[in-house]
Amino acid sequence: MNRKEFLRSLAGTSFAFGAFTTPSISRATAVAGAVAAPFKQEPLPYAFDALQPSIDKATMEIHYGKHHAGYVSNLNNAVKGTKYENMSLEEILKNIKGAPAAIRNNAGGHWNHSFFWDVMAPGKGGAPKGAVGDAINGQFGSFDKFKEAFGKEATGRFGSGWAWLAVQNGKLAVGSTPNQDNPMMDVADFKGTPVLGLDVWEHAYYLKYQNKRADYVSAFWDVVNWDKVNQALAKAK
Ligand code: MN
Repeated sequence: MNRKEFLRSLAGTSFAFGAFTTPSISRATAVAGAVAAPFKQEPLPYAFDALQPSIDKATMEIHYGKHHAGYVSNLNNAVKGTKYENMSLEEILKNIKGAPAAIRNNAGGHWNHSFFWDVMAPGKGGAPKGAVGDAINGQFGSFDKFKEAFGKEATGRFGSGWAWLAVQNGKLAVGSTPNQDNPMMDVADFKGTPVLGLDVWEHAYYLKYQNKRADYVSAFWDVVNWDKVNQALAKAK
C-alpha cells in the first residue's frame, strides 16, 4: 500500500475535494445524533514533495500533518455539544458571527487549508486558461497585472493571514483576511466566494523562504492548478 492508498484507507472513500464545498457531504458521514468527530481532513491530492521547488517537502509535511490536522482536531473538540456540531463547514463559516474564537479560527483553518491544497498541483502553473483566464485579462488587463494586485494583498497582509481571489457579485476581486478568516464569513472584512487562496502565515513558507514572503508568492504561480480555480469559479457564479 503506497502513501496515497494508506491515506485513503484512513479517510474512507471520499477523495475528491470537489465534494468538500458541497454542504450536504462536507462532513464525515456519521450516525444521526451521534456526531463524534464530524470534520475530517481529506488526503493531500499529491505527495508531500510534489510541489518542490515552490514549496518544500518539510514545509508540506508540517503544514498538512501538524497545522491543518490541528485545526481539524481542535474544531471537532470546539463544536462538541454545540449547535455547530450539526452544521456543514460552509454553514459554520457563513454564520460565524457570535461564535467562540476556537470555532472561528479552526473552522476557517480547516476550510482554508483544504481549499489551498486543492488549488495547487505539480506540473501546473503558468498563465490561467478558460473562463478564469478571460476574466482575469478582462478585469485586471493581463495576468502580470493580476499577479501584481494579488501579490500586493499577499505581501501587504500584516502578520498572519490569507490572500484571495474571490467572486463578488459575479466579478473577480482580490483581497486578504487576517488569521484564519475566510471571505465567506459573515464577519469578514473582505467578502466573496474564494476561487484561489494563498496562505501567507509564516508557517507556510519560513523554512525555505525565511523573511522573503514575496519570493514565496512568486513561486506560488508555478503550482497553481487553474483547472480547479475554473471549477471554483463556475460554482461561484
Ligand atoms: Mn497554514
